[in-house]
Amino acid sequence: MKIAVAKEIEVGEHRVALIPDQVAKLAKQDWEFWVEKGAGEASFFSDQAYEAAGAKLIADKNSLWGETDVLLKVGVPREEEISLLSEGTVLISLLNPLGNPQVVQKLAERKVTACSMETIPRTSRAQSMDALSSQAGVAGYKAVLIGASALPKFFPMLTTAAGTIRPAKAFVIGAGVAGLQAIATARRLGALVEAFDIRPEVKEQVESLGAKFAEVQLDEDTAAEGGYAKEVSEDSKQRSQELIGERVAQSDVVITTAQVPGKKAPRLVTDAMIAQMQPGSVIVDLAGEQGGNCEGTEAGKDIQRHGVTIIGPINLPSSMPIHASQMYANNVSNLLQHLVEDKQVQLNFEDDITSSTCVTHAGEIRNQRVKDALAAEGVKVEG
Ligand code: NAD
Repeated sequence: MKIAVAKEIEVGEHRVALIPDQVAKLAKQDWEFWVEKGAGEASFFSDQAYEAAGAKLIADKNSLWGETDVLLKVGVPREEEISLLSEGTVLISLLNPLGNPQVVQKLAERKVTACSMETIPRTSRAQSMDALSSQAGVAGYKAVLIGASALPKFFPMLTTAAGTIRPAKAFVIGAGVAGLQAIATARRLGALVEAFDIRPEVKEQVESLGAKFAEVQLDEDTAAEGGYAKEVSEDSKQRSQELIGERVAQSDVVITTAQVPGKKAPRLVTDAMIAQMQPGSVIVDLAGEQGGNCEGTEAGKDIQRHGVTIIGPINLPSSMPIHASQMYANNVSNLLQHLVEDKQVQLNFEDDITSSTCVTHAGEIRNQRVKDALAAEGVKVEG
């Protein structure tokens, strides 16, 4: 079986789907590896390292994309890239299938077997393949470093000859994967950390990291299928807004990570709350690309409001490409091995990991939510 690793072409994407260490491990299965020349350059993995791991370097994109059995990638492929793929090729990549269902439709039309890293189930069995988690962890860590470097204060408490410095107060909104890593990182830097999540069941995890959990009494179940949050009622919104407003006003750094799958990010920090913060405070809004948790966030920009810096970083995992690629490569490699029997990809759609991740096969879109998303845009889908 021939496995190819594509070079990412989107501006700002510095990750690579497979790193040389993984090529060396997987090559033991007698698979042939083709790596697009320069694929690992932006993540500091040289062409020579891939060659030493047993891969062949390919400069011609047309043959790399068109003659492989499996193509590994990080970001959503462009239309002109999809048209290079041959019928029956297995593509494994982040595909943003709900945000960009048209890409899935193009892959189905091309009769590609597309596996979307986003739709791997969030279960213990699939944990080692869960790229959403591995990349969210990177984002949560980096968000705190960005916040700490933008803050005109120390994070830790310091007792010095020049006086005592009080520790910074950090408030993390959303204690999912990114939020928990942000809490752990802010604690390691010495801040006093408090966190809020609409799902009260995360309280124990927050406290186990040495942070306080800000609690609010809600009269509804806030968790949806798979442990995700639901969009909540107006009453719950109002009660949590009061608590968030209080904590935001007292914080030096606010890190927001709240998401509801398939929806715009909930707007949780208002302009009036920002006006209550001390000048020099910082907000890092990880939901900027989904519309922002904070009023005024502009994805990809740092802005000033009421003396507060609001930072809306985009694609944070790509800003730490060595470890983000290493973790993503492990996820991809574990998925690939899950899909293989007798050294070939053999899809067993009875298996929940295979059936969830595989969004197109043999000309069909296999994911009902993608079909619904296309139907909502007026696109007719067979089957
Ligand atoms: P996410 O990125 O969808 O959301 C981030 C956080 O925002 C969540 O904790 C959510 O509850 C919170 N949130 C949503 N609306 C909010 C609001 N109005 N106010 C405050 N917080 C709000 O979530 P995620 O990080 O992808 O993970 C969600 C959950 O998925 C996890 O907590 C876990 O239960 C589950 N999960 C399971 C596995 C596994 O078993 N392998 C792996 C990863 C995640």
